[in-house]
Amino acid sequence: KVAIKDKYYANSEQAVLAQLDFTVKPGEFVAIIGPSGCGKSTLLNMISGLESCEGQHLSYNQSAYQEGIANNKELHQLGYIFQQPRLMPWLTVRENIELILQPDQFHKIDGLLAQVGLENEGEYFPSQLSGGMQLRVSIARAFAINPQLLLLDEPFNSLDAPTAARLRQLLIDLCAQRGTTVIFVTHDLQEAIYLADRIIFMSDSPSTIVHQSIVDLPRPRKESGVAELEWQA
Ligand code: ATP
Ligand code: MG
Repeated sequence: KVAIKDKYYANSEQAVLAQLDFTVKPGEFVAIIGPSGCGKSTLLNMISGLESCEGQHLSYNQSAYQEGIANNKELHQLGYIFQQPRLMPWLTVRENIELILQPDQFHKIDGLLAQVGLENEGEYFPSQLSGGMQLRVSIARAFAINPQLLLLDEPFNSLDAPTAARLRQLLIDLCAQRGTTVIFVTHDLQEAIYLADRIIFMSDSPSTIVHQSIVDLPRPRKESGVAELEWQA
């Protein structure tokens, strides 16, 4: 549950977010749509604890946290896929994933890389990969910890349409396999309709929820099985 009264940045008199109140159910895929600058990234940063939640009410499984998610005992497994993949450039693909795992979990890495079609790229450095491949690494990294909650911030924006379509399908399959709860930020209505169970529409800043709609379409992920995707080089 997220209940934000108002969120100010220190250098500004104007609230970024106002009266934002919503609940996401376990296993639900929620898309949040809003214009550029309305505070979508701010919202995800608050949920992830990167940005202060002071004075607001955010809770996970009834357990509240005011000062960032690190203080929430219920939610250890949070995945956050940023708009830019944010891989460590001096580490290989494999090392980027190892970074967030305990050594006894390293055996999972090969399977994850295969799922995102990068079974041969484990020893590559991020600079040797295309943008879409880097995003696939960050998807593998996010799923390596088996997140209960996954946040995505317009991840497919900078990709060509076929690559974005394949990655959307991959995301759908990975989430369906694991029952992951997802908050997916986008400004693309078509993408939101395709992916989400529910769409939350945010207004311009100071943002508030203007509309919530249940997407009443057959969800592609309910039909699809394990990802069988063909990746291009
Ligand atoms: P976009 O769709 O372009 O990514 P957004 O909806 O994610 O936009 P935010 O990045 O959350 O929007 O920014 C919302 C507002 O807050 C903007 O006016 C921005 O300038 C301001 N803002 C964002 N981060 C900070 C910060 N760290 N300090 C001060 N102001 C900030
Ligand atoms: Mg943003």
